[in-house]
Amino acid sequence: MKCDTIIDNVIFGGFYMNQYKDFDNYLKEFPSKDGYFGAYGGAYLPEELIPAFREADDAYEAICHSAQFINELRRIRKEFQGRPTPVYHCERLSKIFGNCQIYLKREDLNHTGAHKLNHCMGEGLLAKFMGKKKLIAETGAGQHGVALATAAAYFGMECDIYMGEVDIAKQQPNVIRMKMLGANVVPVTHGLKTLKEAVDAAFDAYLKEYKDAIYCIGSTLGPHPFPKMVRDFQSVIGIEAREQFMEMTGIMPDAVAACVGGGSNSLGMFVPFLADPVEIYGVEPLGRGEKTGDHAATMKFGTKGRLHGFDSYLLQDENGEPLPVYSIASGLDYPGVGPEHAHLRDLGRVHYEVVSDEEAMEAFFLLSRYEGIIPAIESSHAVAFALRYAKEHKTGSILVNLSGRGDKDIDYVYENYGCGEKFKLDYDIK
Ligand SMILES: *Cc1c(COP(=O)(O)O)cnc(C)c1O
Repeated sequence: MKCDTIIDNVIFGGFYMNQYKDFDNYLKEFPSKDGYFGAYGGAYLPEELIPAFREADDAYEAICHSAQFINELRRIRKEFQGRPTPVYHCERLSKIFGNCQIYLKREDLNHTGAHKLNHCMGEGLLAKFMGKKKLIAETGAGQHGVALATAAAYFGMECDIYMGEVDIAKQQPNVIRMKMLGANVVPVTHGLKTLKEAVDAAFDAYLKEYKDAIYCIGSTLGPHPFPKMVRDFQSVIGIEAREQFMEMTGIMPDAVAACVGGGSNSLGMFVPFLADPVEIYGVEPLGRGEKTGDHAATMKFGTKGRLHGFDSYLLQDENGEPLPVYSIASGLDYPGVGPEHAHLRDLGRVHYEVVSDEEAMEAFFLLSRYEGIIPAIESSHAVAFALRYAKEHKTGSILVNLSGRGDKDIDYVYENYGCGEKFKLDYDIK
């Protein structure tokens, strides 16, 4: 049901007023004090690590409400990150498949070219208020490492980024960026030498160094308080976008959408819209297809389980071991998903959809050609969903979070897809 006009609003207003009223107090209820989003989340930690996570939790609860912290973070967002990022109406792209209007929240214009800096600056500022001298994290593709190294440089802190040796070899440009920003990139040489081992190594380091350091996770993942903290810091996306969209159009969008890896850019976009009459779509990568190892669509194919100290949906085998995952977008290939997403799905508030590599790449080229915006391949998944939505609905509006820019991807794309010759990119749109 839609309500575009004042009359519709009068007729359906009551319905809409009530439809999601359960979500008016959502932020007060979730997560619970011990970090649960319904049946998901928590903090399942080895005894020795409990004090470190508890310290972070207590500090965050105390500091995040202080006017000094909030004002300082606002200033950083404005002067360093370049926020607010704009909402942009894709008038040309919207004409391709009918009359549904596609809008983008331009996180690609956030400093460093993606949304990750939103939580890294928050975590860095928290570390400063706690009197810490060092930021610790793991990184896979290197995007989180670069964002955190940026925050460390800004705050004048040390920064240790744990990274598997295999990933170091694959991600040279990001390794160089981290080093230029002054971070130590610590090679992890055991096991498969990729992200999972890097997480273990970062946890070990945190255990040894938590008096002087804080661990900064890269998404809405991990033991409490990190899923909550990262969600809160990312909510700036949806808070801005909601106000901007209302100012531009006078009404709410019919739908909002974002890609889901661990879940941080999507939750940042979604949570401020939860109590509104808006359909919400999380988009996961279907990769090459439905076979195990060909995708990372945790919501579609996963089951409830435990990984890295929290409960959520997981792609796992019978023994609870994470299954191999794949996506063309390295930021989306994680075998789990943030616990809050699992909860929002159980509540029926967020719909989860999948988009394949090929659909994402077609959207990558269409957005580049029709709007002059080259998107990250991760974000292209959300754009592809918006095009599908537009084709089906023909009318109304969809607001997409464009989580990052595609500069990091163009070498890979050119090698594998040229300039998009195999896709239909010519449309007569007048
Ligand atoms: C890391 C990344 C993602 C995925 O992470 P989330 O925590 O799910 O947001 C999406 N888009 C871009 C551009 C990224 O760098």
